[in-house]
Amino acid sequence: MQELPELENYRALLAEQFAGAQITGVEISNVKAFQASDEQVERDILGKVIWFVERRGLHLLFHLDNGKRLLLHLGQGAYLYKGSEQEEPTRTAQVKLHFGPVTLFCVGLRADALQLLTVKDVEEKLGRFGPDALDKRLTIDRFITRFAKKRGSIKTSLMDQNAISGIGAVYSDEICYAAALRPDAKIPMFERDTWERLYHSMHSVLKEAISQGGAGEQPYAEGDSLTGGYSEHFSVYERDGQSCARCGGVIEKVEVSGKKAFVCSDCQKDQ
Ligand SMILES: [Zn+2]
Repeated sequence: MQELPELENYRALLAEQFAGAQITGVEISNVKAFQASDEQVERDILGKVIWFVERRGLHLLFHLDNGKRLLLHLGQGAYLYKGSEQEEPTRTAQVKLHFGPVTLFCVGLRADALQLLTVKDVEEKLGRFGPDALDKRLTIDRFITRFAKKRGSIKTSLMDQNAISGIGAVYSDEICYAAALRPDAKIPMFERDTWERLYHSMHSVLKEAISQGGAGEQPYAEGDSLTGGYSEHFSVYERDGQSCARCGGVIEKVEVSGKKAFVCSDCQKDQ
């Protein structure tokens, strides 16, 4: 799982390590994961400096000093590992970015997970997505408007990257729980008060998860004890059969639009 908190954790770690760092080598062992030609790598990446690292929704963007961008999407099972030639991750990396003696391993990448793009390309690709869930411009009124035309369940809508971006299967359940709303609650039933609870829960859950290093399963580097710290703090996600910390009810696994969801039916309601 790589949702907003996990990617924000990576962004902060990457910015700390690689902002101002020069890319000294690129190794691509799976050409589908990063379809850049040798010429492009030579001309646009090698010797370039990363100015800064940005996160937008479920994407990480490396800003290079030649104006180009490296856009990274970590799908299911993918992760990043900062090591060296002597200190490798347990699984094979599809792409390695070298920064002198330090290597950033990109593991578990699917097709086109890493792309070399112009600023215009990036806007075309990411422009169709909704605002980032933690974008300061996403006020409560704008938040409500993003879902105004939806008729389905709130979990499915929270996961719709075209409505707002950054939330997936895990945090949609956690946010619904924090708001005392069922994940299969239907949007047309919501009153202003429901939206306010949801909006505030979204902020509190995501920010708390970021502060605890997200819930990624793999460490970012040797000795990294921050990454993944939040996985012990889930209230409902994969906690079926356990008792609810809020009301003592039993957490159940249910299906919402064909996807698994976790809910305490005693304290999570339809609105
Ligand atoms: Zn409960």
